[in-house]
Amino acid sequence: MEIAFKKIAKESVDFELLGENIKLSGKVLRKTADLVLLKADLVGQISHICDRCGDELDLEINEPLEIFLSDGIYKGEIDDIDVMEFYDGVIDFNEILQSEVESIKSDYHYCSKCKI
Ligand SMILES: [Zn+2]
Repeated sequence: MEIAFKKIAKESVDFELLGENIKLSGKVLRKTADLVLLKADLVGQISHICDRCGDELDLEINEPLEIFLSDGIYKGEIDDIDVMEFYDGVIDFNEILQSEVESIKSDYHYCSKCKI
């Protein structure tokens, strides 16, 4: 699913993207000429393996997200904000979903047996 940066003007644009057992839904709103703010909730399940014993487990996800999306390379001066850059003039929501799922998976997770 994609939305062109140009289409996001003064009014926010709602979106909903269904992945595998997971849903990213919310809205995008214009912040500056080059920046759009995404406010969304990531809700669902992610299959993962326990980082201690290797058993499969399902992570229950219910995470509010706030990410800035940049139309091209981000040249702003704020360093401590989360910015994702897109180079084709369109926001690719699949890419956002993938990157959030990957970032959750990159944390350590333990199954109920290993969790103390
Ligand atoms: Zn385990």
